[in-house]
Amino acid sequence: MPSSPRVRSAPGQSRTRDSRSSRAAHTLKGARPAEGAAKKKAVRKKAALAPRKVKPVTGKKALTPDPVRVATLLDLLREHYPDAKCALNFETPLQLLIATILSAQCTDERVNMTTPALFAQYPTAAALAGASQEAIEELVRSTGFFRNKAKSVREACADIVAKHGGEVPRDLDALTALRGVGRKTANVVLGNAFGISSGIVVDTHVTRLSNRLGLTSEQDAVKIEFALQPLVPREAWVLFSHWLILHGRAVCNAKKPRCSQCPLAPHCPRTGVTVSQ
Ligand code: SF4
Repeated sequence: MPSSPRVRSAPGQSRTRDSRSSRAAHTLKGARPAEGAAKKKAVRKKAALAPRKVKPVTGKKALTPDPVRVATLLDLLREHYPDAKCALNFETPLQLLIATILSAQCTDERVNMTTPALFAQYPTAAALAGASQEAIEELVRSTGFFRNKAKSVREACADIVAKHGGEVPRDLDALTALRGVGRKTANVVLGNAFGISSGIVVDTHVTRLSNRLGLTSEQDAVKIEFALQPLVPREAWVLFSHWLILHGRAVCNAKKPRCSQCPLAPHCPRTGVTVSQ
């Protein structure tokens, strides 16, 4: 049988009629609208008075930076520091490893003044491992903490000779197993001597700028590194550290950042900056 043609209601009428008929059906089934409304009101009142369960917003989620802003920052940094490279002088992975160990709590300039004599006298891992503690201490004295540093250099070199055939290993775990070598030093060596993007080097400049630029609110170096890794393309990890270190030295210094002259300023929330020039 052909179905009977449907009569279309004028716009706006259909819902009104439907809801009227719905209410009528409701009433016919025995419900009492006035009573229902009172019940609903009571439920709403109870819900309003009850303590609300609010899902906490995690810091990470709240602070996830806008990828477009991060990409703009990276472009600006790349543009302003096209020649960024490791500030420590080295010719071999071993030299960079030793220089990085010596750079703890010391300027790169001071290390660069110290290492030529050290490497001239002890050019290999075996030579450094076989040197006396006193001889190495004397050569690295000006870098500070010289007793500990001399011990680290000698013991790290002894391990390199004993476990890696005298060659600096190209592996994060093997490097961090050496005395005096933490994640930061290992990342410096892998990134700059071997071209391996194993991680992002986080020093005092990278820590300060990452916070000011609103890239992370973490303070711990390893946590900062892991917060930065998803934001920065892996192929830029090594350069990213150099960019922030250079920018931290030239513009965004610790005490009084030069925000008025900073090319990143339009894209920087200046988190934690109270005084600037
Ligand atoms: S705007 Fe200021 S706080 Fe931000 S990166 Fe530049 S100098 Fe640093």
